[in-house]
Amino acid sequence: MSEKIRFEKHFQKSTFHNPMMGNKLDTQEIEIRSDPLTGHRSIFNPRLEDKVAVFFGPSDLALIERLARESEPRCFLCGDRWKMMTPTYPEDLVPGGRVQKGEAVLFPNLFPVYQVHAVIRVGGRHYLPLNEFSVPMILEAFLASGEFARTLFKADPTFRFVTLNGNYLGPAGASIPHPHFQVVGGDIPFNSLESLLARSSEYLNRWSSCYWTDLVDKEKELEARTIGRTGSTDWITTFSPQGTNEVLGILTGKRDFLEMDEQDLRGLAEGFSAVLRGYHSLGISTFNFSLFSGPLGAKDGAFRCQMRIISRQNVYENYRTDDYFLQKLLRNELILNTPESLASRLREAFRPS
Ligand SMILES: [Zn+2]
Repeated sequence: MSEKIRFEKHFQKSTFHNPMMGNKLDTQEIEIRSDPLTGHRSIFNPRLEDKVAVFFGPSDLALIERLARESEPRCFLCGDRWKMMTPTYPEDLVPGGRVQKGEAVLFPNLFPVYQVHAVIRVGGRHYLPLNEFSVPMILEAFLASGEFARTLFKADPTFRFVTLNGNYLGPAGASIPHPHFQVVGGDIPFNSLESLLARSSEYLNRWSSCYWTDLVDKEKELEARTIGRTGSTDWITTFSPQGTNEVLGILTGKRDFLEMDEQDLRGLAEGFSAVLRGYHSLGISTFNFSLFSGPLGAKDGAFRCQMRIISRQNVYENYRTDDYFLQKLLRNELILNTPESLASRLREAFRPS
């Protein structure tokens, strides 16, 4: 077991005369971590831990509330406005044109970036702090996306690659504060999903077991990065994250969206809500997430459904973006909170209250 999944660290030293230390020679040690499956590298300099505030200023709640107040009168998701202002699918594909589950409403994006690109209204409130994303509200949106994926796959079996995603607030890429998720999918996979599927297959061929179930077992054995379990989802922090404060929820028994039932989605919603509560307690106001599935109907034993959640820059005036050349072009993530310390802080949010 131990040789199948290896958590590798590479160390470098960087030396210079430091004016903050009276121009004495200063040597800083840099830790570079590699993801055991993909090799994706992330970088940690322990000396930066005390400088997090330089990278991430505190969320300006008064500013967020003002922006929310100003945008609410024009919001197409508030009240009943979505009934008049949002597009609809052809009746023979989606009866009624939109998928509705309680307050969640799924409809086409006016400017799709992929063959299928739907927006889901999540709840009726225009702005929510992260500790108010409730389980029933999230679950309704998950159920709408599940029904939609099933409907599309039935109508067109070449629709095999589907993701459920979200941006929350401006620094995370959202154009409106009103909580909304997005289903994006089509006949070819997205870059990151394609890479995950290919590496997972290589692992299965090599070891005759599934990387994702092995990973959960391994992390449970090590304990440092486990957060908790909700329903059929195990939650961990990733050894070599692809974004700030990355959390990974793995449905160890589910290979694709079609296999996830309401109980699975409820457990997933419980964990997602708990992660956002945990983020809130850390002063975070934004997030991105993606829920990945194996190819629909393929029963791909190499893969398991999984949700990745990351935080983004906080909302405040003149904030600096969190992604710079290091992430966007060199494709290495910077670790400011170690995954181990993040897991220990998020465990609190998973405890039954
Ligand atoms: Zn709204």
